[in-house]
Amino acid sequence: MLPAAGATAVALTVDDGPDPHWTPQVLALFARLRVQATFSLIGRQARAHPDLARRVVEEGHSICNHTMTHPLTFARRTPTEVRRQVVDAQSAIIDATSEAPRLFRAPAGVRSPTVLRTAAGNGMVPIDWNVDPRDWSRPGTANIVRRMLAMRPGDIVLCHDGGGNRQETVQALGTVLPVLLDRGLTFVPL
Ligand SMILES: [Zn+2]
Repeated sequence: MLPAAGATAVALTVDDGPDPHWTPQVLALFARLRVQATFSLIGRQARAHPDLARRVVEEGHSICNHTMTHPLTFARRTPTEVRRQVVDAQSAIIDATSEAPRLFRAPAGVRSPTVLRTAAGNGMVPIDWNVDPRDWSRPGTANIVRRMLAMRPGDIVLCHDGGGNRQETVQALGTVLPVLLDRGLTFVPL
């Protein structure tokens, strides 16, 4: 949950980009609706698409270190491997955006002592989520919409602009965000 959230604040976190196909669509939607979010960037993706990573920052969104290559076995990696994933991603993101992320999110939200220590040691606060519409599993746009419409003030929501076909996510955001804005929610970057 958002610490000391305003009475109407919610946070959208958008993970696994930047992606040359989906990130521009998400950014365009956010710009049109004046929604600010937090993008968890994969270092390798930022390295490959620095223009997009830079655009995320230039358009006023927060950025978060989401490791260099997004290893799904992160919990089982050695401290050295964890550190390299974090440090390499930080370099790649700084190279692309000229900004050092102050937030960290491990793949699948792993919060082992090694991960937490490494994030802190590199000046980053780990971020969580409490609403997962499971958009990554492509459950159908209607299911993502239904789960996102349940959003309440203080929630941190997980969604994705990379890691596969994100058509359902983009469509769901386009449907849900105007409704939530009408309800009076405000979207804050972390
Ligand atoms: Zn991820």
